[in-house]
Amino acid sequence: MFDRTGGEKYNSKAVFEKLKQKLSKTRELFSRLEQLFQSGQPQPEILEELSELLILADVGVPTTERIISGLRESARKNPSADLKVLLKQELIALLSSLPSAVNESWPAVWMLVGVNGGGKTTSAAKLAYRYKNQGKKVMLAAADTFRAAAREQLQLWGKKLNLPVIQGQSGADPASVVFDAIRAFKAREYDLLLVDTAGRLHTYANLMAELEKIKKVINREFPGGPQEILLVLDSTIGQNAIVQAREFNRFSGITGIFLTKLDGTARGGSVLAVAEELRLPVKFIGIGESEQDLEIFSPEAFVEALLS
Ligand code: GDP
Repeated sequence: MFDRTGGEKYNSKAVFEKLKQKLSKTRELFSRLEQLFQSGQPQPEILEELSELLILADVGVPTTERIISGLRESARKNPSADLKVLLKQELIALLSSLPSAVNESWPAVWMLVGVNGGGKTTSAAKLAYRYKNQGKKVMLAAADTFRAAAREQLQLWGKKLNLPVIQGQSGADPASVVFDAIRAFKAREYDLLLVDTAGRLHTYANLMAELEKIKKVINREFPGGPQEILLVLDSTIGQNAIVQAREFNRFSGITGIFLTKLDGTARGGSVLAVAEELRLPVKFIGIGESEQDLEIFSPEAFVEALLS
């Protein structure tokens, strides 16, 4: 049921249990739904309270309204159906309405973009670990040449995961670092090059121009690339993630969201808001600080983990 990639099954009990446990804070909110559905209240009151709960879980007003009106409609069509089951169907439909399959064709160059602190570097390491474990040859490029800490952090991950990290001098042109990285990537016949980028420059326009330039170099040196451009968003900032994503969405070609820090936040509902309001699919989720704390996003598994 949870197969999203043509190979990987998400019906594994262990993965599901892990997701449930990591989403515990958001689940607390959703567990109040259980009492709500059993309260025997008339449907309009239930929907009213449900709407409040969804907003508390950071689903956002427009998305909440859409869910509630969809639910009202499906309850009208199926008056004897269990509201909770209908809600699950509604949420899964909402999250499945965008093409979310990860482009796992190799060789590939992927870019990670997003504001500093959102989890870009950690997410690059998680992706590297995931694909290395699948037998892929993975290389990292530190294209944030402005922050020494960012380069060092990627370097540390490279050491830990035993993977090459291509980096330039401090203040070097990031596009030239990417150029070097692609040369090495092709010459050494690697499968995946993950490009970590800057999250902040002097002005926003500079940052967008910088990202465009990196993308152009990738495309010129590796036609067809970048195969994925993942916008890394911090789920703990709730609705602000939407504002950030809207800004970054002006940078063309984002293929999906990597939503981080879903562990330990009660704002897991932001997944729904991101999908609905930005029309961008969530492809990966981060559920902890270690390299293993990554899951490919599965609407079914996510909704089951929240509502079971
Ligand atoms: P960057 O500036 O966007 O590259 O962000 P970093 O990768 O440096 O991450 C910022 C902080 O968020 C670090 O302390 C990470 O350990 C932490 N972090 C990243 N992803 C996750 C996650 O999925 N869960 C948790 N709990 N922390 C995360």
